Amino acid sequence: MANIEGKVVVITGASSGIGEATAKLLAANGAKVVLGARRDDRLKELKESIGQNCVYAVTDVTSLEDVQALGKLALNTFGRIDAWMNNAGVMPQSTLDKLHTDEWNQMIDVNIKGVLNGIATALPQMRKQCAGHIINISSIAAHGINVGGAVYSATKAAVNMISETLRQEEAVAGSNIRVSIVSPGAIATELTQTITDTDLKGPFEELYDAFAISPARIAETILFALNQPEDVTVNEFIVRPSRQQP
Ligand code: NDP
Repeated sequence: MANIEGKVVVITGASSGIGEATAKLLAANGAKVVLGARRDDRLKELKESIGQNCVYAVTDVTSLEDVQALGKLALNTFGRIDAWMNNAGVMPQSTLDKLHTDEWNQMIDVNIKGVLNGIATALPQMRKQCAGHIINISSIAAHGINVGGAVYSATKAAVNMISETLRQEEAVAGSNIRVSIVSPGAIATELTQTITDTDLKGPFEELYDAFAISPARIAETILFALNQPEDVTVNEFIVRPSRQQP
């Protein structure tokens, strides 16, 4: 297996959950991590726990300007971008009749446009390097729907379509840029806190309390993806709790 040591990895949504766990695991394995999210205090604390191989910038992924500034921070500090993990996401699920139109728009902005902003920032630099790895965090919600999940599933299905198109385009271009999709099942993070639909919040929390697994399991999957030799990409991972049915 190739070695993650010294690789420069940008992670969005790094202030909690899967992003935080991945930042810690990659840094513990010798990567240099560049972290973005909106909560300054959480990023500062994480940077302090990781040490000198970590920098961060307060970043709203819905702003192309913010995301490009995060990319610049990576280049100015470490000189290259080996991998970019589009992880920031929100999941305010609700049934359509509730008309939570602001939340629909927020999911589209963060989960889709945030990923596109990451690609727009990472791709030109990776093309220059003739190497790079883009990892997009999707969801099992991209593989099937549930009541209340219309917009969330649609945003994650979009992430899959964008990822697969990027993979094929880069294969045709011969750019050596790799693309992986990671689709988690129920993971014990702060994600369910974004649900405001009172009919759904309780059932979701009960389900997560029953069997959600640690975000460290997803971090291990990402480490595995990054550690593959240059001539191979694992294009998609579905990682669920063993006890999760749908
Ligand atoms: P968390 O809520 O713990 O983490 C979400 C992260 O996204 C936080 O760091 C949050 O930071 C960040 N974020 C939200 N909005 C923005 C924004 N506008 N700009 C920048 N960062 C933002 O949940 P998870 O770790 O579970 O979520 C990570 C990814 O995993 C998401 O894409 C989610 O859809 C996906 N996923 C999670 C599953 C689960 O069961 N937990 C299942 C399937 C997929 P901040 O608020 O500081 O900006």
